Amino acid sequence: MRNDLTDDGLRITSVADSLDVGLELLLQTNATLFSEQIISGVGGKGKNWYNPRMSSLDVDVIIVGGGPAGLSTALHLVQQDARWGERVWVLEKATYPREKLCGGGITLPGLALLSGLGLELDGPHAPVHEVRFRYHDWVYKLESEPAFVVVHRREFDAWLAVQARSRGVRIREGEAVIAVAVEEDGVRVETSRGAYRARALVAADGSNSVVRRLLKWGKGGKARLLEVLTPGDAASDYFTHGVAEFDWSGLDAGLQGYAWAFPSLVDGRAMMNLGVFDSRFYPERPRASLLDLLARTLAERRLSLADVQLKGYPIHWLQPATPPARPRVLLAGDAAGVDPLLGEGIAFALGYGQAAAAALAHAFAAGDFRFADYEALVARHWLLRQLRVRRLGAAILFRSVHHPWLARAIWRSAPFLFRVLVAILPQHFPLTKRRMTRMA
Ligand SMILES: Cc1cc2nc3c(=O)[nH]c(=O)nc-3n(C[C@H](O)[C@H](O)[C@H](O)COP(=O)(O)OP(=O)(O)OC[C@H]3O[C@@H](n4cnc5c(N)ncnc54)[C@H](O)[C@@H]3O)c2cc1C
Repeated sequence: MRNDLTDDGLRITSVADSLDVGLELLLQTNATLFSEQIISGVGGKGKNWYNPRMSSLDVDVIIVGGGPAGLSTALHLVQQDARWGERVWVLEKATYPREKLCGGGITLPGLALLSGLGLELDGPHAPVHEVRFRYHDWVYKLESEPAFVVVHRREFDAWLAVQARSRGVRIREGEAVIAVAVEEDGVRVETSRGAYRARALVAADGSNSVVRRLLKWGKGGKARLLEVLTPGDAASDYFTHGVAEFDWSGLDAGLQGYAWAFPSLVDGRAMMNLGVFDSRFYPERPRASLLDLLARTLAERRLSLADVQLKGYPIHWLQPATPPARPRVLLAGDAAGVDPLLGEGIAFALGYGQAAAAALAHAFAAGDFRFADYEALVARHWLLRQLRVRRLGAAILFRSVHHPWLARAIWRSAPFLFRVLVAILPQHFPLTKRRMTRMA
């Protein structure tokens, strides 16, 4: 398939014109037209698949990965102008519904981003109204209507793909990207099915991003996670009152994170999504045993490791020193880096999609594919700017690992600290009630 649109065509200008006010604000950057730069960077199978005579474009933008980041990028583009549907391919190596290891918690900003796209969750999901934070005997709760909702990622991502397709987004499933070369006037991509050229590429291929690896973008920090699904009791507080738990007691065992327990609906059935998150924010420190900590969580529910099917997957978190863009290529979602404090990534992936779509529209309007504005778009984005604050939170909280006095001081004064933080940074606490109370 060919798409011969040029960068200075009327269609492209009209896409930029149709940016909504919010995106315009994101785009307060130098609008000077730049000449294109010579670009280097090749990864993958190398020269063998490269055909120098192939100069036409197959499509304007290739998005690698059809998770929340990739689909959000495409959805935000077609929201700006439906004609982007013709100009973008999402290449997804799996076929929907595909498995994605995840607690499935989507916070209010994530729901707001979906709603901004005209999407309301209509599939099964478990609302959480009460979030409990525990550190040994200290148990605190936050209430909100809701604080977040829990989706099953297999179902949620398939639903999001259906929504994207219904708006004209072209998703090529079962097509894995295996090689990428960045050139002067575009990007060459080789997949399990063929080789294509595009003007720009968005790497939204998750924590183990192949594009990132192929282009030698650096590894970045990675959290370790273990997750299990166990049968849930629909009559328990988890489901009737919408309770979710974060147990931070593992800090004492060297865990730079917490154990979670979320209510979840899987194919309509009540299940508990349990897991352990270890950010490894300080990678030089000894590793906690995730298995021991998960066994502890399971034992509280009269289960053992032998009763469950264990699964693990990393989360790649933000390293501000690593730019999220290079000429012709943007990183989005886990590939760019998300939250090292809580391991939250779905809302941020959706936010990256909004910023990436803005950067793409700007690049095509200006004919400048260096994406020099993307880092600033991410840093100033109404949601993504939280990532730096979360990094700071991780740096402070995980310092308390191996310093029990510091951990106790933090947890003893948690409601006070919470009040102070809410007063200073209200926008970082998207809850309907911003009060932390100690439970009896
Ligand atoms: C155990 C666990 C629990 C978590 N719990 C939560 C939670 O409760 N709440 C929350 O907000 N976040 C949670 N996260 C984080 C969240 O899952 C991620 O941040 C989020 O999925 C990021 O979305 P993404 O689109 O960037 O990447 P992904 O969702 O990973 O999507 C990437 C897509 O790219 C595709 N892909 C990969 N390689 C290629 C290739 N070579 N070619 C083509 N396609 C490719 C993959 O198949 C996938 O569909 C959790 C993560 C883990 C591991």
